[in-house]
Amino acid sequence: MLRERKHCFENRCKGKDNFDNYQIISIFFRNFGFTEGTFARKCSNLFGILLAYSYLCSKIKEFMEIKKAEFTLSAPRESMCPKDNKPEYAFIGRSNVGKSSLINMLTNNKKLAKTSATPGKTLLINHFIINNEWYLVDLPGYGFAKRSKKEVQKLEQMINGYILQREQLVNVFLLIDIRLEAQKIDLDFIEWLGTSSVPFAIVFTKADKLSAAKVLQNVEAYKKVLSATWEEMPPMFVTSAEKKQGRDEILDYIEKINLELK
Ligand code: GDP
Repeated sequence: MLRERKHCFENRCKGKDNFDNYQIISIFFRNFGFTEGTFARKCSNLFGILLAYSYLCSKIKEFMEIKKAEFTLSAPRESMCPKDNKPEYAFIGRSNVGKSSLINMLTNNKKLAKTSATPGKTLLINHFIINNEWYLVDLPGYGFAKRSKKEVQKLEQMINGYILQREQLVNVFLLIDIRLEAQKIDLDFIEWLGTSSVPFAIVFTKADKLSAAKVLQNVEAYKKVLSATWEEMPPMFVTSAEKKQGRDEILDYIEKINLELK
C-alpha cells in the first residue's frame, strides 16, 4: 500500500523537485512548434540558450497569473460536471477551514466563492474556469456537524463519487487549519485518498493567526503524525488568505502540472 501511494505521488503529483529546467524549456518550445532538433540548432550557442531561458521565464511568470476566473456550473454529481476535458484541481476541507477565502485569494476575486458570512453554504460541486485552461473545483466542506444523517450520506456520496470517478481530476488540495492539532476526520480523509490512489497536497490555512515559529512547529507536528502511515510526505503549502501568503506557490504548482499535461 505504501509503495502504491509513493507511486501515486510520483506519477500524478509531480512537484517542484521533479521538474527540471530542460523539461520546462523543451515543453515550452514544443508548444510553439519547435522540435527538440530545431530547438538545438536555434540555440546552438550559449547566448541563444540564455536568451531562450530568460524569455521562457518571463512567459512562465505570465502563465502563472490568473487573468480570468469565472463560475461555470454547480453539479449535484460527477456525471453533470463540465464535459470539455480540462484538468481539474479540487479544494476540500472541513467547514470553516477557510476554503472560500483561499479560493477568493487565489483567484483575486473577493466574491467568487461564498464565504461563511454569506447565508446558504455550497452543497454542490462548483466549477470555476480559470484562464480558459483549467478548472478550480470547490467541493462542499466535510464534517457536517449540524446535518441530518441522510444529508451527510448524500454529500459524502457526491464528494466520493466526484473524487473517485472524475478522470479530469488532477489533484485534490486538502485544507487544514494550521492552528489545530491533527484531527481524526482529516486523517481519515487523507487515508482514504491514499488508499484510493488520489493525488493530493495539504494546504494549511490561516497562518496569519500564529507566529512564524508556531506555524513551523505545527507543520512539523503534522508531518510527524503523517509519518506513522506515510513513507513520503505529500506536498504541503502554508497559506493565509488575509496576507495572500502561499498564493504563488499553489498557482506555480498547478501551472507546472498543467505544462506537464500538455
Ligand atoms: P469555509 O467555510 O471553509 O469556506 O471558510 P471561510 O473562507 O468562509 O472562512 C471561515 C472564517 O475564517 C471566516 O470568518 C474567514 O474570514 C476566516 N478566515 C478564512 N481564511 C482566513 C485567513 O487566512 N486568515 C484569517 N485570519 N481568517 C481567515
